[in-house]
Amino acid sequence: MELRVLSLYPDQMNIYADRGNILFLQRRSEWRGIGFQWKCAGQGESVDPAAHDLFYIGGGQDRDQRFVAADMVETKRAALESAVDDGAALLAVCGGYQLLGESYQLGEETLPGLGLADLRTVREEGPRLIGNVAIETEIGGRKRILAGFENHGGRTYLGKEARPLGTVVKGHGYGNNGGDGLEGVWRDNMVGTYLHGPLLPKNAWLADHLIELALERRYGTRPTLDPLPDELERAAHASARAAAGV
Ligand code: GLN
Repeated sequence: MELRVLSLYPDQMNIYADRGNILFLQRRSEWRGIGFQWKCAGQGESVDPAAHDLFYIGGGQDRDQRFVAADMVETKRAALESAVDDGAALLAVCGGYQLLGESYQLGEETLPGLGLADLRTVREEGPRLIGNVAIETEIGGRKRILAGFENHGGRTYLGKEARPLGTVVKGHGYGNNGGDGLEGVWRDNMVGTYLHGPLLPKNAWLADHLIELALERRYGTRPTLDPLPDELERAAHASARAAAGV
């Protein structure tokens, strides 16, 4: 088996450990004897929806999002939609998460989004939402905690069609907008979240869930992944939870 990952705009959308997330997927695959293929698609490059099973859009500053937004809609939107509809996994973090929605409003300027999730992001007055955060999510079929770090100026509001990835635990952290207690978005095999910092190394279970989804899309059945020792991963998760006060 082989895990086939495509990173979108890795030169722009890569702040806060996004390459570390990819490396973590690679290691967890290789430690189990699963092959790993990593490709990238940047400005102007088209995407073959059948060639990759896990799509990744990392975090980016507003200026990076300005650079990629229109190009992503023009050259990659249709392929991403078709891949996700066909069962591929998609993980979008922070700036990438904002671009999954309809639009990102920055004052007078509106950046177009992929429209893959019913959400909108607005750069409002007020401080950036920064800090350690833990959320409770049911992705993967049972309640679990995702712990990480958020740092965003944009506030995201889910529309009626959108399901949040989870709810912010205990009021530490802000989530989508600091108001409604919701965090991220989750649709089928697509996950968007503000949690970055090494999201996957801190939450190894999410990395494994994404690997399973991707392999299922390619090989037709959901694999049972070999367990790994995970002492360091458990310690990283515990420390991220503790930092979020959970
Ligand atoms: N530019 C976005 C914001 O500040 C996302 C930032 C990020 O990816 N950390 O809202």
